[in-house]
Amino acid sequence: MNIDQFPETIRPHLIPEPGGDMIYRCLGCQAEHGITSLLYTCPDCGQVLLLHDRQFDRLKAIDGDTWRQILDYRRMLKIPALKGIYRYHEFLGPVIPLDAVVYLGEGHTPVVEASPVLQEKAGIRFFFKNDGQNPSASFKDRGMASALSYINFLIQSGQVGEVLSICASTGDTSAAAALYAAYLKPHIKSAVLLPHKKVTPQQLSQPLGSGADVFEIPGVFDDCMKVVEALSERYNVALLNSKNAWRILGQESYSYEIAQDFDYAMSDKIVVVPIGNAGNITAVMNGFLKFFEIGIIDSLPVIIGVQSIHANPVYRYYRQPEGPSRQFKPVTVKPSVAQAAMIGNPVSMPRVIQLVERYNQTAGQQRVHVVEVTEQDIMDWQLTANRNGHIACTHGGESLAGLQVALTRGLVDSNATAIVDSTAHALKFSGFQDMYFQGSFPDEFNVRSKPELVNHPQYVHPKHLEKVPAPGKPLDEDAFRIFVNAVSQEIADTLGLKKKT
Ligand SMILES: *Cc1c(COP(=O)(O)O)cnc(C)c1O
Ligand SMILES: [Zn+2]
Repeated sequence: MNIDQFPETIRPHLIPEPGGDMIYRCLGCQAEHGITSLLYTCPDCGQVLLLHDRQFDRLKAIDGDTWRQILDYRRMLKIPALKGIYRYHEFLGPVIPLDAVVYLGEGHTPVVEASPVLQEKAGIRFFFKNDGQNPSASFKDRGMASALSYINFLIQSGQVGEVLSICASTGDTSAAAALYAAYLKPHIKSAVLLPHKKVTPQQLSQPLGSGADVFEIPGVFDDCMKVVEALSERYNVALLNSKNAWRILGQESYSYEIAQDFDYAMSDKIVVVPIGNAGNITAVMNGFLKFFEIGIIDSLPVIIGVQSIHANPVYRYYRQPEGPSRQFKPVTVKPSVAQAAMIGNPVSMPRVIQLVERYNQTAGQQRVHVVEVTEQDIMDWQLTANRNGHIACTHGGESLAGLQVALTRGLVDSNATAIVDSTAHALKFSGFQDMYFQGSFPDEFNVRSKPELVNHPQYVHPKHLEKVPAPGKPLDEDAFRIFVNAVSQEIADTLGLKKKT
């Protein structure tokens, strides 16, 4: 649609201009720091930062109804920079000019209603938000689009020269970082650090394919993270972990997308997300709070954070009674099929603690809950979902298992509608499906295969059949007819097919 076909009240706001006054704000000492240099922790006290727009209140000059129209009309535009997370430019990175925006197809992932059979099993109406349908097949792309658009802006405006981006990862962050960095070649080079043998072959193939320098480190993610932190303190590198507040900012788009997809009606919604490093749940809370503050949504949805019992430091924190005795203690993780969330010392914990409090306070009631689930339930729910037409990854299974726990514990109303985050594509974690189907899970996972969820390929080679085709060795006409008849007969017998009359 041409711009002058849009309503006159919307037209001036349709294409966002750079604006706002963004700063890093420290969650420890509240100090504010300029954004012209790349900061990850507060230079004064070492705490993590969040980005804040000091002129955020200017957005209140437009009422909620007009905002909703602006965003809905923006959906019709064909401008690439506004097709991804920057449809919400004013809320995400208002200082970034549209020509610095890096758009690789991220965000606005499909919201797919669970099949009737699956909803019946789950006992609640729910949708999967398929974040595996992002360009690098996980939700991390939203944060990466934000971080790399900002770095691109710094490069374009001559504020930085060449950039070496670096991150530690449970797999998906490195896949996203390497992809977006490769797009900005030659200005950005990327290096990623992975825990040796703790990411799936698919995840390892991603940064390799994008041409990043890939380093495998002994230990788990938390150990890699320490190395990356040491590097970023001593050398001039751009850290792309979720310590980087630009990452968190971009991931807020997840909330805005849900608000828009459900016509901004959030009072009866439950948003379920897995927690690893806790960047995602931070962004989700912050996003809903911002839309609520501007009046784009009129209530805050319930948020359920989910952790595996094998990596549950956030759950353990909130399990303690509220008050000064409540203390955060990192845990030593055990192997988890929700491998991207296998984190014992989440970087964003201070952000979570502050935001949960603000969220509940703003809502006037407890609207954020953290639950834990077993590895068995994660696998069973993932496989059940996928047997009913979905493409959930293990973390999607974790979210769905968490929704079950929340229902059982009475934390959520079964008349509400849930949006369950499948944070990556099923294919990234198909190795766990293989282990389940082959009954080969190592004991420490505590996963037993349920026969009704197991599936195997069946090799069809009828015993009496001597000749079968092979690559480059076709059969002669007669032998081929015998082959086709024998094989189709065996398949028909196995399936119990009835002959056409
Ligand atoms: C990173 C990741 C998570 C965990 O998200 P956090 O922001 O670290 O809490 C969950 N699932 C997948 C697939 C991920 O890549
Ligand atoms: Zn500080």
